Amino acid sequence: MYSSESVVHGSVLTAQALPAVGQLLEDGAVRALVAEHGHTLVAQTARRILDDRRNRLHTGPLPADALTSATLAAAISADIDAQLASRLQAVYNLTGTVLHTNLGRATLATSAVQAMADAAAGPNTLEFDIGTGRRGDRDDLVESLLCSLTGAEAATVVNNNAAAVLLTLAALGQGREVIVSRGELVEIGGSFRMPDVMMAAGVHMVEVGTTNRTHLHDYENAITGQTAMLAKVHTSNYRVEGFTATVDEADLAAVARRHGLPLISDLGSGSLVDFSHYDLPREPLPQDQLRAGCDVVTFSGDKLLGGPQAGLIVGRHELIERIRRHPLKRALRMGQLPMAALEATLRLYLRPERLAADLPTLRHLSRPLTAIKDIACTLQPAVQVAVGDGIVVTVEAMSSQIGSGALPGRQLASAGLAMSFAGARRAGQRLQRLAAVWRSLPRPVIGRIHGDRFVLDLRCLEDDAGFRAQLPQLPELLRQHDLIPE
Ligand SMILES: *Cc1c(COP(=O)(O)O)cnc(C)c1O
Repeated sequence: MYSSESVVHGSVLTAQALPAVGQLLEDGAVRALVAEHGHTLVAQTARRILDDRRNRLHTGPLPADALTSATLAAAISADIDAQLASRLQAVYNLTGTVLHTNLGRATLATSAVQAMADAAAGPNTLEFDIGTGRRGDRDDLVESLLCSLTGAEAATVVNNNAAAVLLTLAALGQGREVIVSRGELVEIGGSFRMPDVMMAAGVHMVEVGTTNRTHLHDYENAITGQTAMLAKVHTSNYRVEGFTATVDEADLAAVARRHGLPLISDLGSGSLVDFSHYDLPREPLPQDQLRAGCDVVTFSGDKLLGGPQAGLIVGRHELIERIRRHPLKRALRMGQLPMAALEATLRLYLRPERLAADLPTLRHLSRPLTAIKDIACTLQPAVQVAVGDGIVVTVEAMSSQIGSGALPGRQLASAGLAMSFAGARRAGQRLQRLAAVWRSLPRPVIGRIHGDRFVLDLRCLEDDAGFRAQLPQLPELLRQHDLIPE
């Protein structure tokens, strides 16, 4: 045992004052940590903490109690807690962007979460046919559902829509030409750029038309003996306005048919229901595109569909078969957990009357403004009390957006809480600190800074009890971030 007295020379600690690791592990508080976490983690952490204190002693003095067994044990314990804490944390998305790519896009429905937990907990029928007792295909879990929901002859699924596009191009066009409009060479975030995907898939991209105008004859004139397919790409995250012309799927499909070529369409955010039923702007549906004559349509699972990360490929039987048999399919296949969530999500679409209640994405997007205002008004007094007099909390009108590139420019009227500082000096820096305070709650609250205010858009807040329960922690956090006036 070492004692705190033996490590103090005058009031300055020296490196000799550090206990050996073995000695430290024998200490009562540290022994308790070993009993809880085992020797490996505690010894490793103790060694690192001691190294750190040794380095700090070389560069300057430490407080007199820095090397007591109680202080070291507390440091080791805190470090272990940090190592064991999950980096993937649940947060409140109050940014006003419903499908926030950095915050995990679609929130899954309860049934999808349950299906995933059930599938994860033990063996399941991922690729097993209960009826015959023989091997099955994981696509079987969702293929007939996808076909009945979209009217497609066949369907397959992969890891995400980027994978769906890559695989479709590679399977149907490798080494040959794909014709696409210059107005549709989209870049989605995260380095998905249509020309690069074409190159990675091993197809030769043939651009036709111009940025703002592409005509049917542009496609037709570009068709050669090397053409493998025509492609349409939904310009999901931008809009070209003014003097524009695009060729719609039905007209392009007629040309494709005449030349015996497939027409593929990358829809990006594919919704399976008509959003105009919910007072939202209409997005093109995969079923519309198939009806218009597209042979293969690809779309995301975690955008407007409201499911897990997935790439859905629907279309003509013979083409889907070729896609399924391509070697990349195995490399890009979906995992069993998202597969379970996708199946459960698709089943919700069998009951369209209940969809706006059961599917969180649609529930959030279609939430009535009065309901959002109500929750803002109910929470305002409690938030005002928690942040104190130096910060003014008001209920404000806001506008949310759908996110994930869907329906750009379309804002949804919303409401929430805005916070500003009573004395606006150096407000910018203090706003950043205020945002950090909300982010340091046990379940971080993610808002955004808008002008000279920090705002929380409440469209996506459903667990207001959980939100409220954290508020008493704000005063202490505000003090730590130097935001409470003396
Ligand atoms: C979002 C999007 C993609 C990529 O889909 P992920 O599911 O994110 O991989 C591809 N194409 C378009 C048009 C998109 O909007």
